[in-house]
Amino acid sequence: MRTISILGATGSIGKSTLELVERNSGAFSVTSVTAATNAEALADIARRTKAKLAVVADEGRLSDLQQRLTGSDCRAAAGEAALVEAASDDSELVIAAIVGCAGLRPVMAAVEAGKTVALANKEALVTAGALMIDAAQASGATLLPVDSEHNAIFQCLAGNCRKDVSRIILTASGGPFRTASAEAIDAATPAQAVAHPKWSMGAKISVDSATLMNKGLELIEAHYLFGLPSSQLDVVIHPQSVVHSMVEFVDGSVLAQLGSPDMRIPIAYALAWPERMATPAERLDLATIGQLEFAAPDLKRFPALRLAREALETGGAAPIVLNAANEVAVASFLAGQIRFPDIARLVDEALSDAKFDIPHSIGDVLEIDRVTRDQTCGMMKTSCS
Ligand code: NAD
Ligand code: MG
Repeated sequence: MRTISILGATGSIGKSTLELVERNSGAFSVTSVTAATNAEALADIARRTKAKLAVVADEGRLSDLQQRLTGSDCRAAAGEAALVEAASDDSELVIAAIVGCAGLRPVMAAVEAGKTVALANKEALVTAGALMIDAAQASGATLLPVDSEHNAIFQCLAGNCRKDVSRIILTASGGPFRTASAEAIDAATPAQAVAHPKWSMGAKISVDSATLMNKGLELIEAHYLFGLPSSQLDVVIHPQSVVHSMVEFVDGSVLAQLGSPDMRIPIAYALAWPERMATPAERLDLATIGQLEFAAPDLKRFPALRLAREALETGGAAPIVLNAANEVAVASFLAGQIRFPDIARLVDEALSDAKFDIPHSIGDVLEIDRVTRDQTCGMMKTSCS
């Protein structure tokens, strides 16, 4: 029986994790579950899984959560300290599926506790990658990437020596605007941007897939996870989303991981690692798919990818600024306050204006994040939440 804590249990990754855990209920025991605000859904999950601790980030929802858990063996708690407690409880495996920088302190707590961490929260590596990797080395924590591309790379590296890797090739579906004209992209609506052709995901990451910022964040994520410089990290557009990423070795061999585009596959890999477990994911039928296409990304129509690579190469605070400005801009776009091309424009301006020292702690990272959010809000003429 593997004990697990699920941070972000009410989200897209959290729900898929719960589905897999509930299908294999003899193999897993859930200790803690967390959510941002939805006390009703969290209480339901806590009762179903028989978790010992349920944490809602919003302290104003605590009494609602307590009432809903009355009569159960599950303790209700709220706030950041309680999220950290859920991340460092006595579970073996922590599923880190909170979205955004809100996940930073909980992920760091799990890493410092020396846990095995199934990491979906890409912002943790993008903004605090060096700190997280150092902390994992110090504590002996194991990071299992859940992001499908990094999970694919992790699988391709198994049994190989890291020194023999010459290049990592991340695949990108190209998002809903892959073939759209620059004019059509300029006029894109939130509904069009979140309608991802291949993956079903949360709204923020879906917009990031439409701008290709998601692939840019993944370049930074790959840099920290696999210890390679920007020059050894490539991106190729692959609309079928069947090849989830590739690793090229010094002898010219390229290993790829394939599968249907279903996050339950990488989540299951992390849940069962170092073994594997069955999933209900659709089996890959290459004869029916027929063709797999690949193309170079168009950095003119999708400038966010170029900005992310520049931030990776600049290093220091630049990835934090990139991520924070992007989060604010995406939220404003989803709220109908700015246009689609304004997202990359605001990120570009934030990076040009940024003057920060190299962060040495999660506190430093969160401060750079906060200041950048305020500055990005200030750049917009509309209000900003
Ligand atoms: P989501 O928005 O569906 O769910 C986010 C979860 O985090 C929810 O449980 C929510 O309650 C919680 N949360 C949100 N704000 C919070 C806060 N301030 N404090 C505490 N908890 C908070 O997002 P998702 O699509 O499940 O993505 C989760 C993470 O995984 C993201 O970092 C995303 O980039 C990454 N990821 C997701 C996918 C995917 O297919 N969904 C793929 C790769 C990586
Ligand atoms: Mg991904």
